[in-house]
Amino acid sequence: MIIKIPKNILNELINYIYINKPNEAVCFLLGFIKEDTYIVNELVKVKNAANSPAEFYVEPDELLSIYKRAEEKGLDIVAIVHSHHGLPLPSTIDIKYMKLNPYVWIIISITDLKMQAFVLNEEKVEPVKIVIT
Ligand SMILES: [Zn+2]
Repeated sequence: MIIKIPKNILNELINYIYINKPNEAVCFLLGFIKEDTYIVNELVKVKNAANSPAEFYVEPDELLSIYKRAEEKGLDIVAIVHSHHGLPLPSTIDIKYMKLNPYVWIIISITDLKMQAFVLNEEKVEPVKIVIT
């Protein structure tokens, strides 16, 4: 599985992570899914309602507006991105929410901007290759 992210969207994403420091930042990526390739073409910045450096929470109203925006544009929600202070690996809580939100989960380390993507496949966390386009 591959996720393709345009360079300008990645730059905007990293900028948003800096703006939210020290709190975790959260964004959604909209685009298309073609077989095993996820193609990103839009970034949706989201407010971390938890206001925390250790977790994130998205208000249901905001989530709903993302669904509407995707539907209006004929796009899919491809991925959810959030930042971590530690390693870019899903936490136990992340894995719990991966079950409820079956998108690609991208985690970016606030410390060194290392980035990894995952999907949950039958209870197993599997890596997704990130390609910057
Ligand atoms: Zn997390």
